[in-house]
Amino acid sequence: MTTYDLAIVGGGMVGASLALLCARANPSWRIAVIDPHPAEVGDVSARPSFDARATALSAGSASYLNNLGVWQSLNAVAAPIEQVHISDKGYLPGQRICAGDYAMPALGYVVPNQPLGAVFISAMATQSGIESLVDSVEQLTVTAKAAEARLASGANISAKLIAICDGADSPLCKALGIGHRKRHYQQRAVIANVRVSKPHGNTAFERFTDEGPLALLPLQNSRELALVWTQPILEPDRSGRPDTDFLQQLQQRFGHRLGRFEAVSERFSYPLQLSEVDEPWRSRLVVMGNAAHSLHPVAGQGFNLSLRDCGVLADCLKGVTDPGALECLKNYGRLRQQDQTLTTELSHAMVKLFSSRRASLVSARHLGLLGLELFAPLKQAFSRQMMGGHSGAA
Ligand SMILES: Cc1cc2nc3c(=O)[nH]c(=O)nc-3n(C[C@H](O)[C@H](O)[C@H](O)COP(=O)(O)OP(=O)(O)OC[C@H]3O[C@@H](n4cnc5c(N)ncnc54)[C@H](O)[C@@H]3O)c2cc1C
Repeated sequence: MTTYDLAIVGGGMVGASLALLCARANPSWRIAVIDPHPAEVGDVSARPSFDARATALSAGSASYLNNLGVWQSLNAVAAPIEQVHISDKGYLPGQRICAGDYAMPALGYVVPNQPLGAVFISAMATQSGIESLVDSVEQLTVTAKAAEARLASGANISAKLIAICDGADSPLCKALGIGHRKRHYQQRAVIANVRVSKPHGNTAFERFTDEGPLALLPLQNSRELALVWTQPILEPDRSGRPDTDFLQQLQQRFGHRLGRFEAVSERFSYPLQLSEVDEPWRSRLVVMGNAAHSLHPVAGQGFNLSLRDCGVLADCLKGVTDPGALECLKNYGRLRQQDQTLTTELSHAMVKLFSSRRASLVSARHLGLLGLELFAPLKQAFSRQMMGGHSGAA
């Protein structure tokens, strides 16, 4: 049986980040990253994390990736978010949060997931200590000294610590009796890239409508944006509508701030729920990424939160001889609890408040938007959260 210091189940955005951070923290470690979907630098699209989406990275995440040495390659494809425009359909004055107000070059950056994946895969391939196995973990067994994984290929491996990063609804957590608390939004997110007639000016738009929030994130081309459009699950899925219909409905929902919506790419649809793991760690096991907490995408916090988790876990494991020891994992859990709860609850509150048709909540969100404009500390707290609790740029 091959033995590792750390085995990571799932080589998506979170598994890959964790592998790179832990390999940097412990250069002598042997780390396995197991994923059934092959990923080469030239083609990462088979892996679910590296699909057609784009990810809004906070300034804090950009800093982490800079420290990992991968930001330079991402800079070539990243679009800066210099301001965020927040508006509510039917309530005219939108509010702006500007990077300049915080003396920062950008509040965050938008990176398409495929180049992000290519950079992660390339960094893992050249980082000594990391072995990528194209395989699937079928069963995990924990003993006092190690965790063991039976792979679909028939091989068995053992590791001092196994990180479960197998995505939302983690089948491995289920098999181990690790439960999740779920809150259903009765919404889906439709994503696509759109082209508009006016330049976006490196602005991200958050538009709240009576059927759910809609986000448009600037891409490198000044007239292209990544759309995340939340829609009620009970209404027909708009992703399958002909382009002209889709663009017309989007125009009607968003308005004309970006001129005309001229073209749209292929659409993809994702069901939305908030899911939080009951037991984020056990002796020799830790649950990370979407397997630990999967959030509504509208606030763009899911990966940013997980990257902060990965950074703190790597710090906790630095120099330790037994990374699966309970004390180590307890310490990690203690350090991460506050940020996890705050980020999860803020994202959830935003979705609830900004998806409601109830008159009292509609008034509350108008007051909230007004408050952002009038009450500087509220605006600062909101912006800090969005920037990933970070005060500097990459
Ligand atoms: C529409 C949308 C937009 C989003 N936008 C943003 C954003 O702007 N900013 C942000 O911060 N976050 C965003 N997110 C959240 C972000 O995408 C997730 O946080 C991230 O994808 C989670 O990655 P992961 O690696 O945990 O899971 P996944 O991407 O699901 O990867 C799990 C991996 O595990 C592998 N796997 C599964 N089972 C096994 C097994 N048994 N053995 C081995 N491998 C296995 C799978 O093949 C897969 O590669 C968005 C999410 C959505 C849905």
